[in-house]
Amino acid sequence: MTDLSHIRLTGRPLIISDVDDVILEFIAPYQRFLKARDLKFLPRSFRLTGNVVRVDDETPVTEEVVQQSLHDFFEEQHAWQTPFEHVMTALPALAEEADIVFLTAMPPKFAGRRRMLLDELGLHFPMVAVETAKGPIASRILDRHTVPVVFVDDMSHNLTSVAEHLPDCLLLSLAPPSEVHAMAPKPPETARVVRDWAEAAPIIRSHFSAA
Ligand SMILES: [Mg+2]
Repeated sequence: MTDLSHIRLTGRPLIISDVDDVILEFIAPYQRFLKARDLKFLPRSFRLTGNVVRVDDETPVTEEVVQQSLHDFFEEQHAWQTPFEHVMTALPALAEEADIVFLTAMPPKFAGRRRMLLDELGLHFPMVAVETAKGPIASRILDRHTVPVVFVDDMSHNLTSVAEHLPDCLLLSLAPPSEVHAMAPKPPETARVVRDWAEAAPIIRSHFSAA
């Protein structure tokens, strides 16, 4: 079972946030990473396998090569990934009135790398790396606290999963304006779509003060 013992909630409102393409840029640097390996992503559908192709003849590479590229990318994430605009101002300000926990979908073996990168950026909030559904973990993070909760993610299935386990949670769908996200499944109706953290921050604050 995923260890959450390092998370200490203070009883203030809680923000649970995804990391890739919400806190740190993912799809844009991953595409640059592919290019450095003479590969590219063809935005034909919302999946990597079959759409990651060789630059020279556009032959799709195997699932194994795609997975390896993702693992290598996470291994070298500090060299590629940078924070989204407004993250470095919005998060520290929100942290003055809320607890923040990062819930990232990534093989846990790369959690140390991500922790180092986030710490270098001054984003010292606790982080959990899982490959399982986010709803049950979000529910465990909240534990028995009755504080207002916000969940921020760029993926529809994660928003849906958290909605199932935390029905009172404010869901924010935040994604970069990428061609990949344009093909992704639409967020659930109950999620509020926001462009970035500058737009998200006042919505989060009014959710907290309405509680
Ligand atoms: Mg994400």
